[in-house]
Amino acid sequence: MLHFKPNKFVFLIITVISRRSSHSSCSSSSIYVLEAFSAVVSCFTSRKWNFSGRCHSDCKPIVSHQRRLASLAFLVGKPSQLSCVLPSHTDFLVIMEAKPRVVGTTSEVVPLALPKGSAKLCELCQREAHLQCTECRVTFYCHAEHQQADWVGIHERICPLLVPIRTQTLSSLQEAGRIEMQLKKAELVEICKLVAQSKLSEGKHQEALPAAQFCLRCSIDVHGPRTVHLVPAYLLLAEANMGLGNLTMVAELLSQAEWVALKSPECGHAVHHRLHRSLGRLHTATGNLEAALLNFANDIYFASEAYGLDSTVTCGGYYLMADVFTKQGKVPVACSLYSEVARTWHCHLTKHLETHMQNMQNPDMSFEPSYDNAQRVEVDEMFRTMLEFEQNRSGKDSAQVALVAHCLAMLCFLGGDCLKALGFCSEALQASQLIPNHDLTEPIQGLLQLVQSLQTEPRPGSD
Ligand SMILES: [Zn+2]
Ligand SMILES: [Zn+2]
Repeated sequence: MLHFKPNKFVFLIITVISRRSSHSSCSSSSIYVLEAFSAVVSCFTSRKWNFSGRCHSDCKPIVSHQRRLASLAFLVGKPSQLSCVLPSHTDFLVIMEAKPRVVGTTSEVVPLALPKGSAKLCELCQREAHLQCTECRVTFYCHAEHQQADWVGIHERICPLLVPIRTQTLSSLQEAGRIEMQLKKAELVEICKLVAQSKLSEGKHQEALPAAQFCLRCSIDVHGPRTVHLVPAYLLLAEANMGLGNLTMVAELLSQAEWVALKSPECGHAVHHRLHRSLGRLHTATGNLEAALLNFANDIYFASEAYGLDSTVTCGGYYLMADVFTKQGKVPVACSLYSEVARTWHCHLTKHLETHMQNMQNPDMSFEPSYDNAQRVEVDEMFRTMLEFEQNRSGKDSAQVALVAHCLAMLCFLGGDCLKALGFCSEALQASQLIPNHDLTEPIQGLLQLVQSLQTEPRPGSD
């Protein structure tokens, strides 16, 4: 990469923008910031230039902004916050560095700059590293490919958090410092769990790998090897590998998790439930259907102990079991399990809808959706599978179609997708009207009217 001092064009934009932003209001200046920002960024990226100069002789070099750079990178893409946090032109340079780094940046490892005797290993594959992250400087990679995979998978979110736990200071060697370090690592484990879980729910198995791997390594660091605390990390890694079709790896990870769980009497019901669910999925994938059913039965038992019989977590086991029965050609059993799943979710979603309606009437209360987007995608897919199953089988049950389509309509409505909600409402209504005096006709009609009224209502400011 070519390093250069800012040319006049860039300088001009920065000056104009920083002046405008210091005089105009917060919200309008952010628009200027973004405009100029993208102009400058495209100027750099189109010529593959790496900006590393100073904009003024009185400005500190960019290097001194490293810390803020990392945290500001999070703010890019949030225009409303940009102008508030960036008062001067030096900061534009910081942001300019941050923006094009969609996949982070690296520099070659300089052995002399590192503590003696510390061989640097790749964050992802643990082979010898030749590159290092230029933002935290405490993370290393064998190759740009692994750096990019790690950046997208997890590093982007935890890069600045790694600096304190990977930098040895005098205080980190003392008892209090060590405890604080363990707490920070435990916090990182939680972040990685959430990130991996959310990527898995979205079906991004490859991207979930770095977070799951880091989660396992950090858990071992905090709790030691062979403790029950490692099971969630093993399960995340197994699930990611399952999605990628690495079944041998899945079997290995799950047997490690099983071994640890068996040796730990303190291992809770929730962990056993997740372990059996993963084992059931593995056996389903390898075609060992009897073993799969046995594991799903255990999964349901432990889930009901942990979350209750009527819980949506527990009925996830029924759903997976139904799939196995379908594979075995036992369609009636699958049907009864699917209707159990639909009933449980229908009850759950109806309650949510009621709360949502109450909150809509009382604007002081804000509506908090109970699942994140990734979970909604997962549940949505489950319902669609069930709906398709019911519609395609001979002797289709209209009551079940109405129930599942109504669930989908409520889910879409609660997720803010009125158009899809409308479609599923009509489908549910059609099915329920085939049955005289069906219980669901009234609530479905109610939801349909509500969605229609919201769609025709003029949006604020759209006149
Ligand atoms: Zn590597
Ligand atoms: Zn980093």
